[in-house]
Amino acid sequence: MDLSRFTKVSDYEWRVEPFGKMRVPAVIYASEALLREMDEKVFEQVTNVATLPGIVKASYAMPDAHWGYGFPIGGVAAFDPEAGGVVSAGGVGFDISCGVRTLTTGLTVADVEPMKKALADILFARIPAGVGSTGSVHLSMEEMDAMLEGGARWAVSRGFGTEADLERIEERGMMAGARPEEVSQQAKKRQRDEVGTLGSGNHYLEVQRVAEIYHPHIAAAFGLKVGDVVVSIHCGSRGLGHQIGTEFLRSMALAAKEYGIELPDRELACAPIRSDIGQRYLGAMRAAINCALANRQVITHLAREAFATLFPQARLDLIYDVSHNTCKVEEHEVDGRSRKLYVHRKGATRAFGPGRPDLPEAFRHVGQPVLIGGSMGTASYVLAGREESEHHAWGSACHGAGRSMSRIQATKRWRGRDIIEALAVRGIEIRAPSLRGVAEEAPGAYKDVSAVVDAADRAGLAHKVAKLTPLVCIKG
Ligand code: 5GP
Ligand code: MN
Ligand code: MN
Repeated sequence: MDLSRFTKVSDYEWRVEPFGKMRVPAVIYASEALLREMDEKVFEQVTNVATLPGIVKASYAMPDAHWGYGFPIGGVAAFDPEAGGVVSAGGVGFDISCGVRTLTTGLTVADVEPMKKALADILFARIPAGVGSTGSVHLSMEEMDAMLEGGARWAVSRGFGTEADLERIEERGMMAGARPEEVSQQAKKRQRDEVGTLGSGNHYLEVQRVAEIYHPHIAAAFGLKVGDVVVSIHCGSRGLGHQIGTEFLRSMALAAKEYGIELPDRELACAPIRSDIGQRYLGAMRAAINCALANRQVITHLAREAFATLFPQARLDLIYDVSHNTCKVEEHEVDGRSRKLYVHRKGATRAFGPGRPDLPEAFRHVGQPVLIGGSMGTASYVLAGREESEHHAWGSACHGAGRSMSRIQATKRWRGRDIIEALAVRGIEIRAPSLRGVAEEAPGAYKDVSAVVDAADRAGLAHKVAKLTPLVCIKG
């Protein structure tokens, strides 16, 4: 990336003043080194987003940003319906409400280490993974609609998990305003047998060790101590979300034309929030959010069952469940006035600071957990939202390390078998349905997650709280 086009606001904030049809500036949060290595497409995409109608304040990119469909992955943008603001399917992403939840286990590394292989085997046997994998839950069309309206709340009512889990999920487990009737039959058909499945290679269930604590006070509120074992689950809304994204991109391309919205890139297809198609997308997208919440809830239940066979004393308690592909209506202060904005976070995690009433009581005083994947061979991190973050990118932070090369490049460079063997030598047990998937997700195909997280911390987006390292990774 050529740095000459940026104004350096601080060591971790870079600004592009509006040019051409940009309505607002673009801002990238990154260290100089991360920015230099970021692909050129991020510049093009983050500035393109700044041209969309009704965008407020700026178009943002997080330190893990990389090329995406229309909007960059790691992109954040808020739109005001009163100013003709738009909603964009590409601004949410195809895997609607993809996200991460992390659970404490009550176990320590000393408990798990001797049983690691057996644990990997049983988790792999019980948690359906891989492209097109199906689970043990099969939904009639009536149940489908109940799931799309109820999210994790539906899952709990069907015996997957407990009421206590719901408190620890964004939206308390159920996204309001879902409209299952706006989800096509095709999308529902794809989901019929996929609830409770991980999906493909970038998704995972990982057993991790708390390796380091940077912020003891916040870590205590989250229930984390060095040497503890935790479980993280990363997956989304499977075929259903993808189908909704695909269908609405098509209809939004037509809508944009109809409403006279000029698109610098047709991948930015969008529609006014206050339009029929905009409202229909929001209803369908919220149903897909519920699908993802239900999915992670069912997988949690399966993980609990698997742990119980080896560790009857284990207790898998949810810390939090956060989504990183969403559009949510939120109150934010703009020029001293509270406004209802449609905040798109695509490959970006909400990072609300202390005091937000929607946060669970257990950590309302410290800010929300921000759960960051790294890779199956490096670290992952737990961060916490902070008040300052709300003055930056609407209370958002990064969502992972972010890819540094494409999947195709990665498969040319690595072999899945070699990666699994090299990680086993380092004490990391990988189980995966596809060796190609493992190569695509090679740790070397991602940016340095520690550098990304440090940049998020230094930029004021979130506090670095804990470092997690992998013991067992079940890949999708
Ligand atoms: P995405 O949602 O963009 O597909 O992935 C989010 C992040 O998850 C990626 O940027 C990457 O850093 C991380 N990630 C991908 N695979 C793994 C894995 O197997 N284990 C862990 N801990 N993180 C991963
Ligand atoms: Mn996903
Ligand atoms: Mn994801």
